[in-house]
Amino acid sequence: MKHSHISPFLKEIVSDRYAFFWEVPEGKFSICRKTATRLQVSTPGARLDKMDEASPFIVCKTTGKRYYAPLRKNPALHRMFCSITDDSGMLKFASNYGLLGFTRYHEIRRHNRQMSGKLLIESAPRWRYELAEMKRLMYLWEILKNRRYSLLAALMEYEEDGIYIILNKRRDLVATADSDLGRRWTHLGEKPQEAALLYLTNSINAKIRGGIYPRALPTYKKRLYLFPDNLLTAMWLMFLWEIIGEVRPYLCPGCNNWFDPRRSTRKTCSDRCRKRISRRKGKLKPSG
Ligand SMILES: [Zn+2]
Repeated sequence: MKHSHISPFLKEIVSDRYAFFWEVPEGKFSICRKTATRLQVSTPGARLDKMDEASPFIVCKTTGKRYYAPLRKNPALHRMFCSITDDSGMLKFASNYGLLGFTRYHEIRRHNRQMSGKLLIESAPRWRYELAEMKRLMYLWEILKNRRYSLLAALMEYEEDGIYIILNKRRDLVATADSDLGRRWTHLGEKPQEAALLYLTNSINAKIRGGIYPRALPTYKKRLYLFPDNLLTAMWLMFLWEIIGEVRPYLCPGCNNWFDPRRSTRKTCSDRCRKRISRRKGKLKPSG
């Protein structure tokens, strides 16, 4: 083998020019309504703010963890995230794919017993906020993708100072009147899809900004790789991949989970689902 000296682990986390792995805590996830002080949550770190101190919290008492490579193995994970509709959906997602990356913890020490572990804590309002943000932009992307241009035009407003978009009760400036798009908008008539795509990519670019770092992996292909700093940033990156056509999410008819059938003509996420579907089809056929 050409790269036999290479650690297989490094090789497994690299996807094109990106490298990323994420931790999934092993343990039961639950919603805890105690305050941050009662949970002995430490003070916010660099990427944490006030929102991360707000209860209720998603908590997990954990003694172990496993790792996976979302960008490589689950490049349509942002779609799974957007399918979350309630607290139990958040817990299910967290236990399958890990927390978002706004996590604080404290060590659980029991003097009389030998058991010890960690209590992982992440704010549920943080999850709800990030979910609402991604769903809001996903809604816009679905409109764009399905070419519902009249609906798109209804979301846009042209004012003297520029083009605005109203999305989920939020009104944002897309482009100023004297920008390239602003000037063409008045001269050539409306082009809502161009404005929407500009708003969409600008919004996601802003989410990713400051969250992806170049790192050298000298033992693997001697290249620089880009590391997203947490799962949320990695999912925003997947969203951009979908917009540029790098990832084409497909809903598996076998398990109703999103996956990317990249580089193949697969119609299901796994062999298990393929068999499940063919069994179902077999049952639908008239017997005899
Ligand atoms: Zn499936």
